[in-house]
Amino acid sequence: MRPPVITLDGPAGSGKSTTAREVARRLGYRHLDSGALYRALTFALLSAKIPKDEWVNLPREALDRFPILLRPNGPRFDVLLGERVLEAELRTPEVTALVSPLSALPAVRDWLLEAQREAGKEGGLVADGRDMGTVVFPDAEVKIFLTADLRERAARRFLERESRQPSAGELRLEAEKIEARDKRDSSRAHAPLRRASGAIEVDTSFLTFEDQVEVIIGHVKTLTKR
Ligand code: C5P
Repeated sequence: MRPPVITLDGPAGSGKSTTAREVARRLGYRHLDSGALYRALTFALLSAKIPKDEWVNLPREALDRFPILLRPNGPRFDVLLGERVLEAELRTPEVTALVSPLSALPAVRDWLLEAQREAGKEGGLVADGRDMGTVVFPDAEVKIFLTADLRERAARRFLERESRQPSAGELRLEAEKIEARDKRDSSRAHAPLRRASGAIEVDTSFLTFEDQVEVIIGHVKTLTKR
């Protein structure tokens, strides 16, 4: 029997990627961070110096110039641009600021769809993003929608990036940026961020990391009898 696909969707800073990675590790599945693909295309367009006001009109053929690939690597996928494995380049403030408007474009979403579906073809996948349960893997065996209080998400994001607690002003600024990105991701016409039908909502505001992983594994066991 084909092992299941598990989707984790949710707003920015809800801990999707770190949680998905750990859930995948414990189950012996592979983790797909779909946001990394959108970030990779943002990075590629910036590197190719394509003016930002032209992004909205880029046809599919123009995107085909960018050899963005997912390559299985043990428990994860590397994101490649040609031969280059992208990592820190995907997390710069510039990429983070521009990824959301780019990912609202239907041509972009369509272009990245096949690589994501291919990653889940044989099952045994924990995929995190915004539309994993709604669009990319609508038949996933387990769907989770991860949420957390905005201030909590802002605090976690800041701590993760800066390795220290934010001041009150820094926390406010971080929360504003996250809120703006969530608004854009939730209000776009194509594949907006929303809870898939049948998805279980897990609010992590008051859960430790260990607890949230346990809660999700518990749902996986119940729903897949594994
Ligand atoms: O998850 P991460 O914060 O890395 O995602 C970056 C951005 O990529 C999101 O804000 C969203 O605009 C876009 N994204 C998306 N659909 C996904 C994953 C990410 O639109 N499945």
